[in-house]
Amino acid sequence: MRTKIVAGNWKMNNDKKESKKLIKDLKKAIKKEKLKNTRVIVAPTFVNLSASLKAADGSAIEVVAQNMHQAKNGAYTGEISADMLKAIGIKTVILGHSERRTYFNETDASLAAKVDAILENDLETIFCFGELLEDRKSENHFAVVESQISNALFHLGADAWKSIILAYEPVWAIGTGETASAEQAQEMHAFIRSIVAKKYNQEVADAVSILYGGSVKPANAEEIFSKPDVDGGLIGGAALNVDDFTGIIKAI
Ligand code: PEP
Repeated sequence: MRTKIVAGNWKMNNDKKESKKLIKDLKKAIKKEKLKNTRVIVAPTFVNLSASLKAADGSAIEVVAQNMHQAKNGAYTGEISADMLKAIGIKTVILGHSERRTYFNETDASLAAKVDAILENDLETIFCFGELLEDRKSENHFAVVESQISNALFHLGADAWKSIILAYEPVWAIGTGETASAEQAQEMHAFIRSIVAKKYNQEVADAVSILYGGSVKPANAEEIFSKPDVDGGLIGGAALNVDDFTGIIKAI
């Protein structure tokens, strides 16, 4: 059975006090839930990772990073390495979010290098990708997603896929209030699984968790999560509110 995952990407939100409070509230809220086979993840900003790890200690909440540089160390002003993250206890890193691709010029090639650094450091990644609205309108969305995945991940050996969580996030649905329908999400997730199976084998494809991201809210989470190839969600806006995020966790 694939692991279910609800991950909250806090982006550039929540200072130290707010991060600690949100984790404390979430801890209380999910205590009552049965989290069988479900991972609950939050991704605070770099400066609040240590305080968040401390706040989450002893709970089921996992704290992950939103990004990472591929180099071991060196003259990369403003960047954070795998060693630095590991040293404070981070095990998982989100890579390739559309905001990183759009505002910080991340490319399939730079993301492939980041994924290599993840694996060299025994870390895990939540790897994000997804098409633009114009790609969907021109019915190019399958080709775009296939090229994003193959360019950044298909150089990996089958074994490496144990450290990969995929997050399909159609860019037109991120922060817009517009969600892909459950059918659109399922169609794309099944396609993603099929290309992984074709490149590797069915076992690898069946084992990889594929999350959906894009305006998931408590009101639409259940329908999206009910689809057989949707293994959970990467949540932006709704992860900043304890009731909304807990509502989404309940839906899984
Ligand atoms: C995201 O940024 O990954 C995301 C899915 O955001 P939102 O849930 O706000 O659309």
